[in-house]
Amino acid sequence: MMKEAMLYTKLKDDLVRCQLCAHRCTIKPHRVGICGVRRNEEGTLCTMVYAKAVAVHVDPIEKKPLYHFLPGSASFSIATIGCNFRCLFCQNADISQASKGGGYPVRDFPPEEVVAGAKRYRCASIAYTYTEPTIFFEYAYDTALLAHQEGIKNIFVTNGYMTEEALEAIEPYLDAANVDLKSFNPQFYRRIVGARLEPVLESIKKMHEMGVWVEVTTLIIPGQNDGEEELREIARFIAAVDVKMPWHISRFVPHYKMRSTPFTPVETIHRAAEIGHEEGLRYIYAGNVPGDPHENSYCPHCGQMVIRRLGYHTHSELKGRTCPSCGEELAFILN
Ligand code: SF4
Repeated sequence: MMKEAMLYTKLKDDLVRCQLCAHRCTIKPHRVGICGVRRNEEGTLCTMVYAKAVAVHVDPIEKKPLYHFLPGSASFSIATIGCNFRCLFCQNADISQASKGGGYPVRDFPPEEVVAGAKRYRCASIAYTYTEPTIFFEYAYDTALLAHQEGIKNIFVTNGYMTEEALEAIEPYLDAANVDLKSFNPQFYRRIVGARLEPVLESIKKMHEMGVWVEVTTLIIPGQNDGEEELREIARFIAAVDVKMPWHISRFVPHYKMRSTPFTPVETIHRAAEIGHEEGLRYIYAGNVPGDPHENSYCPHCGQMVIRRLGYHTHSELKGRTCPSCGEELAFILN
């Protein structure tokens, strides 16, 4: 059964305009938007994925990745099918693109059961993840509201393409987000992702202004977004928002329609980390490089390791939020 969507405008001739993401699709009757999961039913916009979970897992929060928000905790993670992007390198294309043909088995999993599941597995948070939470906004919104009533935090793992209206609606219930900043090149966004860069930058700034804890991830793809100047522009942008905002630099692994592109050399990840430091960022992490020293958290003041990580395992030396060596207050959210 479909549910009426939030955040849309009725237009003449039974057209509707969805206001959830920056595509702002105008949709004719009996048609769907770019994400494939929002359908115009006789002039009423409906979500086709409300409470239709395609993936449900208990994950370490480090897998999102969030390294500074409730480190070492478990996050109850859900997704529906569909995405408003069509990244050629998508790691979850089987479910993210399922709405655009092919389909995928889903299960009924209403918000009350999601929150009950999070409590059962002692999860400190619920993560709306794997695909894009913006496109299952109503499901995420209702779940997030219930989660807060139970003292459970909410996390978006997102491409950052939501509208200001969507962000303002979810703000009271959204505690943290990992936002993909995939490139600083508008052509990359157009050609490889099927979207625009500017709304993503605006979302990162807006979430930070709202007090949502934000960490940024950049997947570095050889030959696409690994130029020194582009990496510097990304680092500069993040530093201008907040030098304490963590930057996750992730190693590309061939996927989906980019299987012939090679893995990112580890040296490129290390050079990006250097650039991030040169631009003033305090917390920089390597992703998909198990055992790399850049998986750990270090005090930016004295260099002491404060959280050791191996994959998703963590060992914290933090004393509250302070460095055990020099007493510097560090940017971690612990409750
Ligand atoms: S969520 Fe985005 S892609 Fe989907 S219908 Fe709305 S505006 Fe279009």
